[in-house]
Amino acid sequence: MLAAGLIDPAAIAEISKTEARYAVAISPAMRALIQTPDDPIGRQFIPDPAELLTAEYESADPIGDDALSPVKGIVHRYPDRALLKPLLICPVYCRFCFRREHVGPDGGLLTDAELQTAYAWFAAHPAVTEVILTGGDPLMLSPRRLRGIIATLSAMPHIQTIRVHSRVPVADPERLTGELVAAMETDRSFWLVVHANHAREFTPATAAALRRVRTLGIPVLGQSVLLRGVNDSSEALEALFRAMIANRMKPYYLHQLDPAPGTARFHVPIEEGRALLETLRGRVTGLAWPTYVLDIPGGFGKVPIGPDYRRPDGSVRDFQGVVHPA
Ligand SMILES: *Cc1c(COP(=O)(O)O)cnc(C)c1O
Repeated sequence: MLAAGLIDPAAIAEISKTEARYAVAISPAMRALIQTPDDPIGRQFIPDPAELLTAEYESADPIGDDALSPVKGIVHRYPDRALLKPLLICPVYCRFCFRREHVGPDGGLLTDAELQTAYAWFAAHPAVTEVILTGGDPLMLSPRRLRGIIATLSAMPHIQTIRVHSRVPVADPERLTGELVAAMETDRSFWLVVHANHAREFTPATAAALRRVRTLGIPVLGQSVLLRGVNDSSEALEALFRAMIANRMKPYYLHQLDPAPGTARFHVPIEEGRALLETLRGRVTGLAWPTYVLDIPGGFGKVPIGPDYRRPDGSVRDFQGVVHPA
């Protein structure tokens, strides 16, 4: 990154300390989009000395996942669904991600024995009807492994829905080959949720990867994190959600940033986030409207955080700000 002019030589000592603590990776596709280190793409992936400062409200387990892991690789918080993390490697390491710690040489890949234990857990929990493959990034698995995981889950009668959360379609679209797409074939309800934070992440290669996914009829949703200096303006959010719709992707969640250590430079207060979303209501197609969610620190789950249009007295505000009495 130094050679590529992405980091200031004067900051090299501090950046090295950051790299020693948190993993760093930019994919070639994302690297190609960076014009200046501080632009909306560069900010997401280039390490910054500010990551060494942990604010007092930040936590290494910001959303309380650790306590909710019954067996390695599974996080179970809600009655009907659970996360399965088969691999912890990601094509890029977002500087705001609470999982940006270094993973060992095995990439956090669950061993065959650990996968068997995870399958046994799902088999023993018939109330869990949805599996959310996340990570790291499940689309970094080989087609053979992904096919095996999806086939095994699909063979369990109570598993109705399988969901993949991934950054690969934008971060490394060439990786989403026909063979990898074919590995997602299942007779269950199958959904792909793509993590993207800026309109510029939608390149022709991403559009082509998403077309390959659509050949299987897989519905595609978008999720984003509200980030200072990346998408914290009305224009940036509008462009992001319109880019998703143009790519036949329904914006699903706009996440409030999890308070992971060293992420304060990305923090946008919730009141500001609500005000930003309000500027889009009515002006932008309802298809482009995501649910703004907070993963409550401590492990209490995700909840919608507005904006609200109805007041406790029953009066309702319209999209132009006019209040209509109850
Ligand atoms: C986010 C999350 C889910 C998925 O929640 P949805 O609201 O269904 O998208 C499931 N389990 C855990 C532990 C999560 O953090």
